[in-house]
Amino acid sequence: MATNRTFTMIKPEAVAKGYTGKITDMIIEAGFTIKAMKLKQLSKEAAGEFYAVHSERPFYGELVDYMSGGPIVAMILEKDNAVADFRALIGATDPAEAAEGTIRKAYATSKGENAVHGSDSDENAEIESNFHFSAEEIVG
Ligand code: UDP
Ligand code: MG
Repeated sequence: MATNRTFTMIKPEAVAKGYTGKITDMIIEAGFTIKAMKLKQLSKEAAGEFYAVHSERPFYGELVDYMSGGPIVAMILEKDNAVADFRALIGATDPAEAAEGTIRKAYATSKGENAVHGSDSDENAEIESNFHFSAEEIVG
């Protein structure tokens, strides 16, 4: 598999609980290189836009409130097979279903407050990276 990139956020409850360092360690230990990284707080509008694909889902309002409720850490990550390998590293959406050794198994609180985001395709990784980072903020 060719080297490619994915996008992640450490979500507000995980940042608030002090898991930023531990989660970042797991990401680096798994072989990902950080190409961009920042702490930021999303407005409700920005969180709503980021998750617009879920706007018809019953959990959308709660998701937008949660994701704009405190700082997140956004990152662009590079690795061979980055998108699929990162989804494997984070585990299932619901931590009750996440495998041992995954970030969500270790650090997620619930299906909603599940510690990390991971892009689901190369195309969305690019869109999501560009949503959060300008070209100058990304290392070669
Ligand atoms: N989510 C939720 N309830 C659900 C499904 C999803 O609150 O029943 C939230 C959760 O924070 C999840 C996000 O919405 O991470 C996006 O959902 P998706 O199905 O894309 O899950 P993911 O790709 O993050 O595993
Ligand atoms: Mg998703």
